[in-house]
Amino acid sequence: MKPPPFEYHAPTSVDETCSLLGSLEEAKVLAGGQSLVPLLNFRLARPAHLIDINRIDGLDRIYERDGGVAVQALARQAAVEDSELIARICPLLKDAMRLVAHRVIRNRGTVCGSLAHADPASELPAILLALGGNVTVVSRRTQRVIAADQLFTGVFETSLAADELLAEAWFPAFSGPSAILEESRRHGDFALAGVVRAGDALALFGVASRPVLADRRDPTHGLQPSGDLEATPDFRMHLVRVLTEKAFAA
Ligand SMILES: Cc1cc2nc3c(=O)[nH]c(=O)nc-3n(C[C@H](O)[C@H](O)[C@H](O)COP(=O)(O)OP(=O)(O)OC[C@H]3O[C@@H](n4cnc5c(N)ncnc54)[C@H](O)[C@@H]3O)c2cc1C
Repeated sequence: MKPPPFEYHAPTSVDETCSLLGSLEEAKVLAGGQSLVPLLNFRLARPAHLIDINRIDGLDRIYERDGGVAVQALARQAAVEDSELIARICPLLKDAMRLVAHRVIRNRGTVCGSLAHADPASELPAILLALGGNVTVVSRRTQRVIAADQLFTGVFETSLAADELLAEAWFPAFSGPSAILEESRRHGDFALAGVVRAGDALALFGVASRPVLADRRDPTHGLQPSGDLEATPDFRMHLVRVLTEKAFAA
């Protein structure tokens, strides 16, 4: 199918983007388009305005700051996967990339787009949560930092306001024992269930409306995963237990 009609905007600066986001009703940011474009084509999203940020220079940096690594809004997932800086100071983030879709999708898809999209089965929100990272968001009104545990509020929902741009994600340096494990039907598919271990911290994905922190000694406590054609709730609970055990066994 073709997307529904929308008005296209191509700002060349963050300020211009914020002005558009602050003045237009029903506007959506277009980053890598790897989630938004399919949603448009299936007519599951019908924004009146698309704000394409791809023409903004200098918004694709991956750089060290505050004892961690910052990944700007236009840094592609593939660039993060290939980054020596990420491999050195946050290897868990590099490890996660091979599980995110396929390389051709990662060539366009952005880390910040994945966080803003907030698919509960996505790997990157769970990584940000397990590591205790944050995001910086900007608007015409203000600039603020949102901690990972305050960012994801529900299925495809975040605490970003409609006029805010997710400008940068920040992941703390971490070189302790870590793992990301998931089960999916085919390589590159979204996970039926997954776990991220960062030291003693454990985050789960694919088993709740958003990524959640859990206790490794009782990882399914309070969980009520949904069932679908791919997996029953019981099977998802089983996967969480097995994957947690494996993640902490190393
Ligand atoms: C076949 C296929 C398989 C996939 N498999 C996986 C998978 O296994 N795991 C996984 O995690 N992902 C998967 N994805 C999704 C992929 O990782 C997307 O790239 C990612 O979720 C969204 O990033 P994007 O830059 O493409 O965002 P877009 O598609 O451009 O945008 C997605 C949403 O986020 C918003 N947005 C984007 N950037 C910003 C910003 N800077 N500020 C505010 N809002 C913003 C948009 O308005 C939109 O609502 C898959 C995609 C495909 C097509």
